[in-house]
Amino acid sequence: MEEFGDVLAKRFNQNNYLGQYEQMKIAVYENAEVKRFLALHREQLTDADIQKSFPKLYEYVKDRETFEQTGVSKIAPGYEPQLVLNFHYVDVTYVPTQNLLNKRRNEEIRARVRAIDMPKDIQDATLEKYEQTEGRFEALIAAADFVSAYTEQPKQFHKGLYLVGSFGVGKTYLLGAIAHRLASQGHITTLIHFPSFAVDMKQAIGKETVGDKLDAVKKSPILMIDDIGADSMSAWIRDEVLGVILQYRMQEQLPTFFSSNFDFAELEEHLTMTQKGDVEPMKAKRIMERIRFLTKEIQLVGENRRNASQ
Ligand code: ADP
Ligand code: MG
Repeated sequence: MEEFGDVLAKRFNQNNYLGQYEQMKIAVYENAEVKRFLALHREQLTDADIQKSFPKLYEYVKDRETFEQTGVSKIAPGYEPQLVLNFHYVDVTYVPTQNLLNKRRNEEIRARVRAIDMPKDIQDATLEKYEQTEGRFEALIAAADFVSAYTEQPKQFHKGLYLVGSFGVGKTYLLGAIAHRLASQGHITTLIHFPSFAVDMKQAIGKETVGDKLDAVKKSPILMIDDIGADSMSAWIRDEVLGVILQYRMQEQLPTFFSSNFDFAELEEHLTMTQKGDVEPMKAKRIMERIRFLTKEIQLVGENRRNASQ
């Protein structure tokens, strides 16, 4: 910005630019905001101060013009030029526009929703946009109840939701919307697509990253496990991954959510049979005890929204 002033000053010294200079002066001193500003600060500024400020006033007038016309400052995109008094001269300051402030706030909120292997569109899910239908109403109320209870007393244990319903009914979307609302209140949520997470974990077996990945998930202040039961599980995933996560969350009383096509009874049956075909009802019962402790089962009923939106 100094350079701009220098260039301008050099130009003024060249006679052939005098006509142009007169025009610039008119543009500057006839500008309504410049007039208002100078009148407001007349007592603090001498004539020499005002003259010295000319390059800045000119910068302001030009950039303000661009900003008014296009909505974007040329000098500092996302910011809006404004005049300020800087001791004995007038300066231009660039303040973030409301748009930029909104964008920053949205980025902060999004950063608190840690989605692992989740569909991209859940980042845009909000409770406001959540379409209410009779079959989804109970879930929506339970979601709102959770958010208000948790935000009022984040240190206390609150049961999460276990959302049951058929494919496309809006379970994942609702989890995303809850995470978004919690994020807007400053809370961090991790969402994992459980079948993909299980594959990741299996691939990481024997590597050091296994413990780190598992830790990050199990310790998340709020955890949402999406699509549990969608794939058959190995005994290792069931007992050493899921079991370990749930055990920790129960001990630490950390809010945990699920979505599934299976209700509690169906999931128990699903967990009983391992990928290899072993039947282990006691292991399944133990997992279910933890899920029951951590969550409240809620049914969502409705049409498949995936077809509706296509
Ligand atoms: P599920 O997890 O139950 O299979 P999804 O949550 O993935 O279903 O929803 C299916 C589609 O419908 C997604 O594209 C999602 O963005 C959209 N959707 C779901 N519920 C709503 C809703 N209440 N309002 C707006 N869009 C929704
Ligand atoms: Mg889903």
